[in-house]
Amino acid sequence: MVNILKTIFFFLLEYLKVNAYFRKINKGRIKVLMYHSISDAGLYFDNSVSEADFISQMNYLYKHYSVLKISQEGQISGYDSTKVNILITFDDGFKDNFTIAAKVLARYQFSGIFFVIGECLQRGSPPAFVNSKMYKSRESQAYKTFTTNDALEMINMGMTIGSHGQTHIDYAKHSFEAARSDALISKSCIETQLGVPVELFAFPWGRFRAKHLEPCKKYYKRIFTTQHGFNKVDDTVLFRNEVANTLHLFCAASGALDFFIDLIRPRAKKLN
Ligand SMILES: [Zn+2]
Repeated sequence: MVNILKTIFFFLLEYLKVNAYFRKINKGRIKVLMYHSISDAGLYFDNSVSEADFISQMNYLYKHYSVLKISQEGQISGYDSTKVNILITFDDGFKDNFTIAAKVLARYQFSGIFFVIGECLQRGSPPAFVNSKMYKSRESQAYKTFTTNDALEMINMGMTIGSHGQTHIDYAKHSFEAARSDALISKSCIETQLGVPVELFAFPWGRFRAKHLEPCKKYYKRIFTTQHGFNKVDDTVLFRNEVANTLHLFCAASGALDFFIDLIRPRAKKLN
């Protein structure tokens, strides 16, 4: 029932041009979108977006937004002050990010940031958390990560690789020292594998404590969280909105969704 009401609400925001209004008042701001797997929904991939939906979402972004690129060094290019600017990110390094997402993005001349788990890139196998939760299940077999060669090809296609930690531990549940060293080890592991600088970092599970920001800012130029909201070109800590489905993307990208969420529950201030 809640999901049906949400769908109707999201549909009305688009149909009544509320999203078009928010695109206008939020022009010049940066919205970061977060994806995981680009595949049909399954038991494990409950946060996945199908290939067909992903293509129609990129088509929508192409029509209404400016899509930015961030280099391996953390430099933003393609900024347009007359539009809402979008950064497209992917967490966990799923194989379909290489076989599907990067190829779709390249067709639109878009770039994406792919946050990989250090140990997965090194071994080319799923992270430990998948093996422990989904051991012997069909879904764990489906969880394939892209390899070092795939990542190098993606960089050649104009994509950017960032770090999602070395082992995908929850920083909020581990000691400060464990989190700090995981962030540092993943940077040097991915840089060694790929031979490029890695200056972008996304917290595993999206969770962190304020004290984790200092060491992460020392190791990386940009830190991506899962708190909702807009960003500016010079921000070190960036908010992101996860894309659940196409109607949801329409409201998340325009900033309309943040506005209505704020009415119900004000968000935390950005820690920059
Ligand atoms: Zn993750």
